Amino acid sequence: MTTIAMTNPATGEVEQTFDSLTGEEVDRRIARAAQTFASYRNTPLEQRAEWMNAAADILAREADQIGAMLTAEMGKTLKSAVAEAHKCAKACRFYAEHAAEFLADRRPAEPGDVGASDAYVRYQPLGPVLAVMPWNFPLWQVIRFAAPGLMAGNVGLLKHSSNVPRTALFLEELFRRAGFPEGAFQTLLIGSAEVERVLRDPRVKAATLTGSEPAGRSVASIAGDEIKPTVLELGGSDPFVVMPSADIEEAARTAAESRCLNNGQSCISAKRFIADIGCADEFERLFVANMRTQKVGDPMDDSTDVGPLVSEDARAGVEELVADAVAKGATVLCGGERPDGPGWFYPPTVISGVTPEMRMYHEEVFGPVASLFRVRGVSEAVEVANATGFGLGSNAWTRDETERERFVRELDAGQVFVNGKTTSYPELPFGGVKRSGYGRELSADGLLAFCNAKTVWVG
Ligand code: NDP
Repeated sequence: MTTIAMTNPATGEVEQTFDSLTGEEVDRRIARAAQTFASYRNTPLEQRAEWMNAAADILAREADQIGAMLTAEMGKTLKSAVAEAHKCAKACRFYAEHAAEFLADRRPAEPGDVGASDAYVRYQPLGPVLAVMPWNFPLWQVIRFAAPGLMAGNVGLLKHSSNVPRTALFLEELFRRAGFPEGAFQTLLIGSAEVERVLRDPRVKAATLTGSEPAGRSVASIAGDEIKPTVLELGGSDPFVVMPSADIEEAARTAAESRCLNNGQSCISAKRFIADIGCADEFERLFVANMRTQKVGDPMDDSTDVGPLVSEDARAGVEELVADAVAKGATVLCGGERPDGPGWFYPPTVISGVTPEMRMYHEEVFGPVASLFRVRGVSEAVEVANATGFGLGSNAWTRDETERERFVRELDAGQVFVNGKTTSYPELPFGGVKRSGYGRELSADGLLAFCNAKTVWVG
């Protein structure tokens, strides 16, 4: 048994510890999941929708308390944590309302063309799905799997990040209070070393993981060995391209907002800022000014924009990447020095002159640090944007329709946001290509990712 500790990133103090589950307890929970699935899969959709709406009501009603819990555990600002709870409520309502339409039988062919009196696709749940989830959006990342998953008739087993045990336990409690049967959604307080055993258990039918590349590679290899489907949402190093025809002021404001989102710890934060030479000076000046005005401080304070990083190691990792770039010739335009005092704070930082020899060029920086690049024209912008192993989101700022079409066609990413910042919406599919993972979450795609699309042919 290991101890799971909840440490407040704003103070560095351990506030609570939890014992992880024993092997027997894990086994009991998997058994309960399998048992619950046998009946839960047959509950009418209207009933599931009623429970899902009840979960939404709890999330909206208790958003302030939930927000405070998130902030204490992982350091995001209270206002963004409260907003996260409301966003989760919205997603629950979305799936409660649309699941019937997404799960409806589909008739891809005229029955006569395939020699049948009827032929259709029926979408059925797979069973217990393991969700390995990260700490950065500790509620949202889980809800975006759980809401469609439960509406589809699957049951969930959550292995959350070890630093957010309160949120992990709250999520189990949330679905129980909303009325779902006890085994429909359970939290497994376990360390990552225990994941393999759960994943190899024949009662567990699939897995979804959001997190780092090593974690994704491990879970996907084991699931592959067991021939179980997976959806992986790994990191990103999203490009943010700015062309001269864009509203440069708006682009610079949005750029800083995107880079500092969640204290700089979001997979879809723009991280590499690529400005055409025709607007690079103006963009750089405005962007740096916007980054400087982001207020760093106590995440509970309403006026704070950027709270602490999640852990001492996380901050050390960001500092190493900055030091590596500077040692190899990059220039720090703002930030770059940690403040004195307790907590794992790091200031919004902009770096120019980043070259392929620097780690930052290739690696995801999980903190409020931006790399600035200058290019000549769309082709070079696309080349620099795509010069990464990641392919999660991307952002292109232009008012020129021909340029827009080229960015849409040529950026290697799971999503392209034109004149805006990459954001997830329950209504739109979300996911990546390349080393950012595969499969899609959200929208109908996310719900169907964990369904058996069963072909039915009737003679
Ligand atoms: P991890 O990928 O280590 O953690 C995410 C989840 O995976 C946690 O539940 C973790 O459990 C679990 N996990 C870790 N290793 C394994 C493994 N080998 N097998 C099974 N499960 C595993 O992320 P970190 O928190 O360590 O962050 C490291 C980096 O990952 C960040 O700097 C960032 O680049 C990226 N990241 C990306 C996220 C995204 O949104 N795409 C979210 C978080 C991180 P446990 O906590 O017990 O180790």
